[in-house]
Amino acid sequence: SLNGKTAIITGSNSGIGLGIAHELAKAGAAVVINSFTDRDEDHAIAKEIADTHGVSARYIKADMSKPEECRALIDQAGACDILVNNAGIQHVAPIDQFPPEKWDAIIAINLSSAFHTTAAALPKMREAGWGRVVNIASAHGLTASPYKSAYIAAKHGIIGMTKTVALETAEEPITANAICPGYVLTPLVEAQIPDTMKEYDMDRETVIREVMLKRQPSKEFATVEQMGGTCVFLCSDAAAQITGTTISVDGGWTAL
Ligand code: NAD
Repeated sequence: SLNGKTAIITGSNSGIGLGIAHELAKAGAAVVINSFTDRDEDHAIAKEIADTHGVSARYIKADMSKPEECRALIDQAGACDILVNNAGIQHVAPIDQFPPEKWDAIIAINLSSAFHTTAAALPKMREAGWGRVVNIASAHGLTASPYKSAYIAAKHGIIGMTKTVALETAEEPITANAICPGYVLTPLVEAQIPDTMKEYDMDRETVIREVMLKRQPSKEFATVEQMGGTCVFLCSDAAAQITGTTISVDGGWTAL
């Protein structure tokens, strides 16, 4: 059980982050939900998690594109036993047409934010004598596809950083690992469908089957609950010697 542990999940008011927050809360952790907005519905998400799982849960606004806000999130949360770096955005375009500001935003949110949060969280984990860093990378952290240069660079980068954090904490009761999801049907993926339909001149169903799940041999989307369950496993005693590695939850994508 994760009773007594506090988990901070970046980018967790929707999709995979929210699914992970639910599973960690179900396992007994207090959770901190985060995004860059500060709406009533953001705080309502935290309340619903608290009510559903009987743990404490709160929402803290912090923009993961801003280094100071990444560090402030960890400070404001107080404890940080489990850090899940999940916030991420996507942009799809050929590299010669890729907007430089999109490149910068993707590197900032998908990669640099994890540097800042990890730097702020490790002293707290050391003080507590236990810690788990779980970075949400991607099958695109291990393989590539066209038109996603910034995303793929960021995801390969976060896997490299995960290994480094694991080595720097190797003799401590702290682990750092990356989960590499294949395709999970979330708002981020939903938002890619129109662009991909244009890029390939295909209808929605064909894009899903032939393009998105083309490389996912199971031909099924993975679920946010499966990402949460994997995260809970990485926080368990069984996973105490698992560090500096990746766990693919991708229906066989990276086996191809
Ligand atoms: P999503 O769009 O549902 O969730 C992204 C989350 O990040 C949201 O909560 C959003 O509010 C938050 N976010 C975006 N910009 C932010 C910012 N500047 N500051 C703070 N929070 C911000 O997408 P998702 O599919 O749940 O993606 C979550 C993670 O999983 C991402 O890192 C993504 O790359 C990764 N991933 C997703 C898939 C998939 O198929 N959905 C596959 C592999 C990896």
